[in-house]
This record gives sequence, C-alpha cells and structure tokens, in this order.
Amino acid sequence: MQTKAESRRKEVVSSSLLRRVNLWSGIPLAGFHLGCLLVIWVGVSWPAVIACAAVYWTQIFGVSAGYHRYFAHRSFRTSRWLQFLLAVLGATSAQMGPLWWSSHHRRHHQFADTEDDIHSPIRTGFLWSHLGWILSDEYKDIDPKYVKDWLRFPELVWLDRLRYLPPLGVGVILFVVGSWIAAYRPQWGASGWQLVVWGSFVGTTLCYQVTFCINSVTHLIGRRRFETHDNSRNVWFLALLTNGEGWHNNHHRYPSSERQGFFWWELDVTHYLLQVLKAVGLVWGIKEPPPVIYEETRARPSAAS
Ligand SMILES: [Zn+2]
Ligand SMILES: [Zn+2]
Repeated sequence: MQTKAESRRKEVVSSSLLRRVNLWSGIPLAGFHLGCLLVIWVGVSWPAVIACAAVYWTQIFGVSAGYHRYFAHRSFRTSRWLQFLLAVLGATSAQMGPLWWSSHHRRHHQFADTEDDIHSPIRTGFLWSHLGWILSDEYKDIDPKYVKDWLRFPELVWLDRLRYLPPLGVGVILFVVGSWIAAYRPQWGASGWQLVVWGSFVGTTLCYQVTFCINSVTHLIGRRRFETHDNSRNVWFLALLTNGEGWHNNHHRYPSSERQGFFWWELDVTHYLLQVLKAVGLVWGIKEPPPVIYEETRARPSAAS
C-alpha cells in the first residue's frame, strides 16, 4: 500500500513532468509512430518485410556500435571515414545526431540513477525515462563539455546539425527501390510508399522503442550480476532485440568495454560484427573487460550466471 507521502511525491513528479514536456518537439516522434498505421493502406509484401528488417537492423547497428559503443564510450578505434559512416548509420535511426546522443549518454553514466540522471526510471518514473526526457526542452541542446573530443571533427558537427538528412535519405532510397519493384517486378506486390511505410515508419519505430527500453526497462527489471551504484540490470530479451545492449548491468559495471555480453552465452551480435570488422582491419583497439571483472563474478557465485 502507498503511503500518503509516496502518493504526494508521485503527484508532484507527474505534474512537473507534464510541465517539462514540449509536445511540439514530439511531433516527428509521433509522426513515425502514427505513420505505422499506414500499413492498413499500403498492405504488405515480402520486399516490405525485408525493408523493415533491413532498416531496423541497420539502425540498431548504427546506434549500438556507432552512437553507443564508439561515440559515447570510445570502446574501439577506427579510421575517420568509418567513424563518419558509423555516425551516419546511427543518424538513420532519427535519434538526433552523434554529438547529442553521446553527450546525453555520457551524462547518464556520470549520474546513473541519482537525482541528476536525465532518464532514471526509479527517480522520475517509467514514462519520463522511456519518453518524457526526449520531449523536454531541457535536453534539446548538447552540453559541449561532454563531447569536447568530438567537436574537433567538422563533419560530425555538420551531421549533428543536418541530422534529419540520413533518415530522409533512407526514405528516398526505399521509395526508389519500391517504385522500381512495382514497375519491373509487379508480381512481388510492392510499391514505393509500401517500402517507405514498412522501412521508415515501422522499422524506425521499432528501433525507437527498443532503444527507449534500454533507458527505462533495464534500470527496472532483470538480473543484477554486479552490485553497481545504479539500478542497472541485464535483460536477456532486450539483448536479443538490440544486438547486445540489454546486458546493461554488465555495461554499467565496466562501460569502457566494447563487449557487453561478458560470457559466451550472453548473445552480443554487435560485438561479433565488430570482431569481423577487426579481422579485416577496419577497427582496432577493441577494449575488453579486464580479468578483475571476471574475478568479481567468481567471488559472487550467483553473479556468474
Ligand atoms: Zn543505464
Ligand atoms: Zn553506455
């Protein structure tokens, strides 16, 4: 049962949340979500399903390998051109630019689950951590002190300003491909708009939702292998959906490790793909969890699973 003080605190939090949200900034996000309803109008075909999976997978890779493991944590090294490509792939997810993403995520790690965390579900509730903070004007701008290392790359600053170009480019490519299929392979049942709806709207919305879950759900439910100072947790099904980002308690314990599934049974597809890129010489300097982290799991037998 809730005490009076608890329910009063929740009331204050929810009324201040409403004041802090700027609904105008939610229009693009709402547009992507509502755009999914157009599937009723455009129908479905197997090229549309492939387009949806391809866009989702590309965006997840861009956010996981690019925005998160590279731009926020610098957990591996690469060339300047691949750095830019990772930034573009991340930006296709319509989750703002690489500097914005990195700046806010670095702040999350600095203050995880304290009063100063920008999206802590245990401080400000599930809805704020999942969505509210993104719609708030308080976090519209980047804090340059968190991304000093990236500000010296003019192409990244440029991409951060023109962040809407990559998602727009994805939409144009899908429309062209779908229109080509409609003209030359009509038996496949696809069209330009059908691929845009399934790829850009459904694919991007799915990527939004699983990314938001890493901010909200993985600080609420799941297993805590490590006694970190925050409430981070490992959530296996989110790890499956995000190519490895769901091992969030592992990640908070040792954020500079590129690898987030610390054991072989913790599926971490982003890690495997980066290993392939390492094997062909495109990335290097991949950071791993040091032995002391594995010793911690041995010292706490329940933590090894
Ligand atoms: Zn976190
Ligand atoms: Zn992180």
